[in-house]
Amino acid sequence: MYARQPIMAGNWKMNPSTEADALNLSTGFVALLNEMEDTCAVDESEGCTEVVLFPPFPFISKVRDVVGPHGISVGSQQIYYEDKGAFTGSVAASMVKSVGCEYVLCGHSERRTMFGDSDVNINAKVRKTLEFGMKPILCVGETKDEFDLGITKEVCAMQVSKDLAGVAKEQMKDVVIACKLQLCCGIYCFYPVIIIIETTLAVLDEPVWAIGTGLVCGNNEANEIHKFIRTVLEKMYDKEVAESTRIQYGGSVTPDSVDGLMAMSDIDGCLVGGASLFADKFARIVNFKK
Ligand code: PEP
Repeated sequence: MYARQPIMAGNWKMNPSTEADALNLSTGFVALLNEMEDTCAVDESEGCTEVVLFPPFPFISKVRDVVGPHGISVGSQQIYYEDKGAFTGSVAASMVKSVGCEYVLCGHSERRTMFGDSDVNINAKVRKTLEFGMKPILCVGETKDEFDLGITKEVCAMQVSKDLAGVAKEQMKDVVIACKLQLCCGIYCFYPVIIIIETTLAVLDEPVWAIGTGLVCGNNEANEIHKFIRTVLEKMYDKEVAESTRIQYGGSVTPDSVDGLMAMSDIDGCLVGGASLFADKFARIVNFKK
């Protein structure tokens, strides 16, 4: 048995609009965590849930100052794989490291689809993150077209193997995989309407089309994909890496869905987008019922 510490990550994406709002969100979140009786997120003892926030670049330092003293880490939503130079608009690993980032999101579906991140680039970012002593959260998952073709597992296997190429077994203890899925058994919870859609089981991962949509993957289907990713890791590395690597579920996680997801054997945490912009929702997610 390999113990895997739960890890909850809040990806704020390009939100909120101002530094003042970012500080309100982080102070509100910390205050709620401190009030929660069951929480162990703010304490660093073994067995507690690890919590990471991914604010936009301009807010990272100030958010770190608010949450760091409470045992919460900050991470960068993105880096470029070169160290320095004429790359206007880009941010280097050394820069985010120097402002306190411990994690870097690599291969997020929005980066893959909107900004053209290829597996070659994502692999370079994963390796650059590790080189600078930070930990990559590697996001994998299929697009809607790939989902429709029924090739989710193939896509996940291909992304995991390409994006981790050249990563040594000893480095894998610092790698987290986020399987951003979607699929599901159909309750589409787009507020304020709730639509029941046909049951589509699918296999998960970063279905770009489901991220941020309110579509939540069935717990068992999600767990199946996580198990599948462990088989890929076992082929690439060995059983120890397969069983000890933390794999998060991603895709419209809410306070209502988190407990069921976290009860699954192979789901070790969640990568949360929309709900992490609400202090109360994210605090409840972090304090999932064990
Ligand atoms: C994400 O972007 O990482 C994500 C999972 O978003 P959401 O929770 O909003 O689907």
